[in-house]
Amino acid sequence: MSDLAYFDYAATTPVDPRVQAAMQPFFAETFGNPSSVHRFGQKAEAAVETARETVAAALNCRPDEIFFTSGGTESDNLALRGTALAMREHISANMILTCRAEHHAVSKTAEQLASHYGFQVKWLETDGNGMLLPATLEKVISSETALVSVMYANNEIGTINAIPEIARICRLHGVPFHTDAVQAAAYLPTDVQILGVDLLSLGAHKFYGPKGIGVLYIRKGTPILSSQTGGGQESGLRAGTQNVPYIVGLAEALRLTFAERAIRSEHVRPLRDRIIGRVLEEIPEVRLTGHPTMRLPNHASFAFQDVDGNLLLTLLDAAGFACSSGSACKTGNPEPSEVMTAIGLSRDWSLGSLRVTLGKDSAADQVENFLETLPGLVKRARSLSRDERTRPRSHKSRVN
Ligand SMILES: *Cc1c(COP(=O)(O)O)cnc(C)c1O
Repeated sequence: MSDLAYFDYAATTPVDPRVQAAMQPFFAETFGNPSSVHRFGQKAEAAVETARETVAAALNCRPDEIFFTSGGTESDNLALRGTALAMREHISANMILTCRAEHHAVSKTAEQLASHYGFQVKWLETDGNGMLLPATLEKVISSETALVSVMYANNEIGTINAIPEIARICRLHGVPFHTDAVQAAAYLPTDVQILGVDLLSLGAHKFYGPKGIGVLYIRKGTPILSSQTGGGQESGLRAGTQNVPYIVGLAEALRLTFAERAIRSEHVRPLRDRIIGRVLEEIPEVRLTGHPTMRLPNHASFAFQDVDGNLLLTLLDAAGFACSSGSACKTGNPEPSEVMTAIGLSRDWSLGSLRVTLGKDSAADQVENFLETLPGLVKRARSLSRDERTRPRSHKSRVN
């Protein structure tokens, strides 16, 4: 795979060798169940509690406000479902406020809370950069609001939301505020006191940790109902024997991220700026998606008019570049993502999205090769996409 340049760090990152080394002893050597009374159990429990302290230090909170989950998705689910149900029980609040530009882990959970649990969801409009303006929230938040959930940084278009301002509005109204920080944590500060959030989700595999492990920070006193009942682990909020090696790995990955965040940002930012600058300059009928400045330092995203985004990805892959797009479907009739629709792109633009995300192993020569190759591939994808659209429908279905 060494001939393939990886530009998809927003999808996942490789496990840092230092993280892997930290995890290793906890598979077979120190394998005890953290809930066991004997010394095997004590050693495992100590590892989990040390990890909890490490995470708490990175987030500037108490260790008993850190809950380990199976990843960003579960953290988002627990935050939304758990808080919504508890808030309804406590104060009969029934309204959830969130955005269409959220990750599906949030938006689909909100949809289910509406369709099966009797909650109302109000979808807050974001601006053309996918940003929630605090004034939009201010207009609709009320004593009926059970929960507000707004992501810290958008995975598809890189836009960073003004979390401290949004948190201040929620706090004034006494409404719990959750932020999905899964994409943000690799590059942005995660001090929950400065952010002012009540709940915050993390997933280790977005910052050089393993997949399938995450954290939900829950501020003391936030009403929340467990959605996984059982043996009482994680203070009874998330039952199930803890995944000790992965918890150790998450903590080490977060500790390294905290220590190396500035260096990592300085590495990717000029590469990102080079990509954005050259693409906008050299390719016709293109626009940047997401905010021009308030965006993740490793994140470049575009929309090309009259280009099938999935076709472009295939051409890029064949040419040795692994990127991604925002369209939801891999086969058949593609649908633009909710994010592309939320930022107001019409169909001829929204199907042609491209996301290029960098990481600590991205190199300047990979970026240059990419920038040499991309214009020709866009041109090809555009002419193929235009041919496809003008071809009679019967012919198209025969091809499929
Ligand atoms: C990746 C991602 C998730 C899902 O996290 P998993 O750990 O893969 O379940 C949720 N939200 C955002 C913003 C993400 O980027």
